[in-house]
Amino acid sequence: MKRYTKSGRYYKNYYLVECPQCHKPANVEKGILSCPNCMLLKNADDDISYKAYVKRFCPYCGKEIYAEQSGFKTPPKEISVTCSHCQEAIEYSPNIESYRKIYSLPQDTGLKKDPYFCLPLWLQTEVKGNIFWACNREHLQEIKEYVESDLRERLWPYLMTMTAKLPAFIKDAKNREDIIKGINRLEKK
Ligand SMILES: [Zn+2]
Ligand SMILES: [Zn+2]
Repeated sequence: MKRYTKSGRYYKNYYLVECPQCHKPANVEKGILSCPNCMLLKNADDDISYKAYVKRFCPYCGKEIYAEQSGFKTPPKEISVTCSHCQEAIEYSPNIESYRKIYSLPQDTGLKKDPYFCLPLWLQTEVKGNIFWACNREHLQEIKEYVESDLRERLWPYLMTMTAKLPAFIKDAKNREDIIKGINRLEKK
């Protein structure tokens, strides 16, 4: 029987993702995307943009005006709005909202993504209709050791803590072989 030997450690501080430029594995760590293959380097904070909007009553004709402009790199103090009713243009100080331009897949495929750039994780595969995924290779190794451990070892405090974070299908002993096959596929990826 295999023994579980690891002490607990924090492995979720970086993610292996699919590079949006070359589609090879890239790293996301502390909001920085770096690809060792195509040298893409991006900071998630650089992708913050601002949306400015105005919702007022026009001082000329009294009708309601709603206008929004987006794509600002810094929040604008004033924007020029033309009333759609009387065509008068006025400068307003707008309400501001920030948003992050994220990469998105053509459709939502149900794939697991990183929290900064929304890029699909590199280490994910389907196991019996479930998405099995790991943040990075160390995380994959941890899950593998957990899945291969026997029930008695699973009651150890560290493994119990880890268990709380795992989806039920990974913990289900009858899925063990399929999960190990999935892990082997990902190890070769
Ligand atoms: Zn790349
Ligand atoms: Zn007006």
